[in-house]
Amino acid sequence: MKIGVFALQGDFERHGEMLRQLGVEPVYVNRAAQLADLDALVLPGGESSTMVKLLDDEKMFDPLVEFAKTKSIFGTCAGTILLASGVTAPVQRSLQAMDISVERNAYGRQVDSSIRRVMPEQAFEERTSPGELEVVFIRAPIIRQVRGDARVLVSFDSQPILVEQGRHLAATFHPELTNDTRIHELFLAKLRQP
Ligand code: GLN
Repeated sequence: MKIGVFALQGDFERHGEMLRQLGVEPVYVNRAAQLADLDALVLPGGESSTMVKLLDDEKMFDPLVEFAKTKSIFGTCAGTILLASGVTAPVQRSLQAMDISVERNAYGRQVDSSIRRVMPEQAFEERTSPGELEVVFIRAPIIRQVRGDARVLVSFDSQPILVEQGRHLAATFHPELTNDTRIHELFLAKLRQP
């Protein structure tokens, strides 16, 4: 299984380290040609508007839209903004890979950058292991709408913060910044599903 980590911008190294910890050697991706070999891609946190610009500059935007139609993407924070089908505050182009709408930088100042503890949905615990989850928010978006067969796996303050749809997984927080590897494990488990 070949897993790429988008490495033009953002917190890609921590994702790479976490994948390595789980026995997967990541491929750092900065060119469209690299996508062809991959089974999955991690889109890290960072600054989504900059990522859109860099994807355009590197002629990677449309190839990524195509990639998402058959391969898996795991987005965290800015990566989730890229996966969404609707982005506000401000309106921004995205890959339209998941039936979620997000509002950028949507938490008030208290939550803006903070560490919280939440109880995941049972469906998450059944597929990983039970227990509270530490979630790190850094100027996080809020997922305002979840449509179609997109499913909420973890919420905070009644708002979804981890959502899956088919092959894709989207977190508004930064699982790569904690020692809890369950979110990455869940993504790897999804990839192994027939
Ligand atoms: N605020 C950033 C954005 O809108 C996302 C922040 C993050 O990825 N930690 O793109």
